[in-house]
Amino acid sequence: MTERLYYNDSYLTEFRARVVDVSPDDASPDRQRVYLDRTAFYPTSGGQPFDTGELGGLKVVEVADEGDRIAHVLAGALPGTEVDGRIDRERRFDHMQQHSGQHLLSAVLIELFDVPTVSFHLGAETCTIDVTGTLDAEQLREAEQRANHIVFENRPVAVSFQDSADDLGLRKPTEREGLVRIVSIQNLDRSACGGTHVRATGEIGPILLRKLDRVRGNMRIEFLCGSRSIARARADFDALSKIARIFSSPLDETPALVEAQREKLQETDRMRRRLSTELAQASGRALYGETIPGPDGIRRVLRRVEALAEESRAEAQSFTAAGPAIFLALAENPPSVLVAASKDSGVNCGETLKRLLGSAGGRGGGNATLAQGSLPAKAALAELSEALARELNFRP
Ligand SMILES: [Zn+2]
Repeated sequence: MTERLYYNDSYLTEFRARVVDVSPDDASPDRQRVYLDRTAFYPTSGGQPFDTGELGGLKVVEVADEGDRIAHVLAGALPGTEVDGRIDRERRFDHMQQHSGQHLLSAVLIELFDVPTVSFHLGAETCTIDVTGTLDAEQLREAEQRANHIVFENRPVAVSFQDSADDLGLRKPTEREGLVRIVSIQNLDRSACGGTHVRATGEIGPILLRKLDRVRGNMRIEFLCGSRSIARARADFDALSKIARIFSSPLDETPALVEAQREKLQETDRMRRRLSTELAQASGRALYGETIPGPDGIRRVLRRVEALAEESRAEAQSFTAAGPAIFLALAENPPSVLVAASKDSGVNCGETLKRLLGSAGGRGGGNATLAQGSLPAKAALAELSEALARELNFRP
């Protein structure tokens, strides 16, 4: 059975221990699972990830809870039977801030809104808790304020061991039998927990509540504590400052400014589209005027464009609306074709294109005066355009 030094001292990051067992790691032949008589390394459990660090100068890549024993997975083979352990202090303290912050936040959510926490996840970037019931953004702000207030009060956080048969007064009942480890925040919370915690709420640092999502019938709250809050606030400030600089505006005025810009952009885009359609229509009419009719009195135009857009259709329709006319547009990216014809031209665009597309392996269709289709390859486009030109009497 491994003695868990972190149970009584979360701040212990260096220790000496005896190796009691070593076994190869199934996942990788270069790795070893090492068991000690005592350890300060926290194994992944209760939502909190394992500690990293070194054991006998070798990197600890994972720490697993196997019930009575704790397995240290090492990136190499350990020499000797006595080892010095050293835990990554920064990572450990970060986990302490997040985990104690979680207890505090969960207790506050019960106190204010009677909303119990059902799960906790301590991630590499952010932490989340899932709670039952519903919460809104205003309640989230209220909880954030209350939680930080308790941080400022610097209430003691204590660890004690009590028998499960006693009246433990826990926030959430425990299924553990026998001796139970209880982490308490003075006059606020008592939780059965094996995690590493700070000694007073002041050490949790600022608590930031961020996203509120609905996840499988529960509410998920994303939060950050301590150094993570500071880092996040710094990143937020830098990002907002960049936006504010672009708009040459004070930071607090950027949301309204961005909203106004977005509306302006939408309006401008609508106007641009209207104008380019009008331009295409004018160009279609002008083209009709410039085109010399064939012996059959029909004016024919073949356009090669990069891609078929709304403007191509507008130009084609306006060209064929002016009098007896046929308009053919070919685009290479992607290979596609557009046919437009005036009603008196004797051409049914939809039928003609559909028939020719079928033999070219393409797809598309339309009505008698306008049709459009796409082709699988550029080679097929050349073939189709020849067939169309023949069918519609375009001069070679
Ligand atoms: Zn806990």
